[in-house]
Amino acid sequence: MENFTFYNPTKLVFGRGQLESLPKLIPDGVKNVLIVFGGGSIKRNGIHSNVTKKLQNNGYETFDFGGVEPNPRLATVNKGAQFCKDNNIDFLLAVGGGSVIDATKTIASAAKYDGDAWDLVTKKAQPEDALPLGTVLTLAATGSEMNAGAVITNWETNEKYGWGSPFSYPQFSILDPVHTYSVPKDQTVYGIVDMMSHIFEQYFHPETNAPAQDRMCEGVLKAIIGTAPKLLNNLESYEHRETIMYSGTIALNGMLQMGYRGDWATHNIEHAVSAVYDIPHAGGLAILFPNWMRHNVDVQTDRFKQLAVRVFGVDPEGKNDREVALEGIDRLQQFWTSLGAPTKLADYDIDGSQIDFMVDRAMKNGSFGNFKPLEHEDVKTILEMSL
Ligand code: NAP
Ligand code: FE
Repeated sequence: MENFTFYNPTKLVFGRGQLESLPKLIPDGVKNVLIVFGGGSIKRNGIHSNVTKKLQNNGYETFDFGGVEPNPRLATVNKGAQFCKDNNIDFLLAVGGGSVIDATKTIASAAKYDGDAWDLVTKKAQPEDALPLGTVLTLAATGSEMNAGAVITNWETNEKYGWGSPFSYPQFSILDPVHTYSVPKDQTVYGIVDMMSHIFEQYFHPETNAPAQDRMCEGVLKAIIGTAPKLLNNLESYEHRETIMYSGTIALNGMLQMGYRGDWATHNIEHAVSAVYDIPHAGGLAILFPNWMRHNVDVQTDRFKQLAVRVFGVDPEGKNDREVALEGIDRLQQFWTSLGAPTKLADYDIDGSQIDFMVDRAMKNGSFGNFKPLEHEDVKTILEMSL
């Protein structure tokens, strides 16, 4: 393993009815709270009104900032930061999925920065201060509720990048599985694909000694695979929503990636696709990940074989390692398809006309990926395999 320091200051408050604890989680000295949310799901399912009442009954003034898009946009973030400056906001509460949380993290730093939030996203500037934030998660997917990352799209230039800073950790995140009951089937599937992809991004690493980390990744993957079909048959099962919500957080709060660096190339390629076509993040991952795997199966065939045997139950008897590895990848794709995830870019009416543009976007900072650094031709091949 590499030397490492693990640090994660987010207080996780998990379970039924935990919204009750909201007022006492807000730090001392805060007088007003900006509730940041998306396109209105929290108004329809009653979470907005519960959150607002909890805050107002405990003496906080509340402001609303709604309209954060899925794949949140720079223009919205800049608007939110200006709103904070104009109204002297003390505390930000993100109520929503990964898009709302990522936008809130970026608004928090941009509110204390004199300039365009894009400088922070592109790392041209580092935040020196930020407003504090907390979250009420309503969709299990990204893990953003317990990490410092945020992904923002500049729709004017068709660029989508991840960024983060120590200021971006939520101070607390309230995770009540009941808050995810109203997530429709397609978004539930996307969430499942995203959290599994986060685990794959970490499972495919160049470190030779990480047997405990491998087993943790495999264990969470098996729990998700075992639960997903049952949840899709009963979207209001507390038990299954609970397993999926917990898995999504664990998948990307740093627990699985101690002592090594994951790959993250597929996320980078997906960001290039959704920056041009604005498709759901995990829809893109469901299409790209099996092809990233097939393209790289010879890099460490034994690792792909391990995944195939331990997670997808492939019987290695009478097959060579490569055959076992490829069968595992096929089973992954079949599993995602069985849930209803897309398999090719054509499912989103995406043809090959913008491939070179997407490759350029993905290659903006040169070759990428820690398991196997990808060059221009690799990215192009993976996108072509995905058409
Ligand atoms: P999302 O974009 O936050 O939300 C997707 C949709 O689900 C929205 O239309 C939203 O509606 C709806 N929704 C959310 N909660 C709901 C509920 N309880 N009931 C009904 N509908 C609900 O989805 P996401 O997958 O969580 O986030 C995707 C974004 O996160 C992408 O931009 C991706 O690149 C990024 N990402 C970030 C990280 C990270 O670590 N920071 C990791 C991976 C991906 P409303 O807008 O109306 O609420
Ligand atoms: Fe993701």
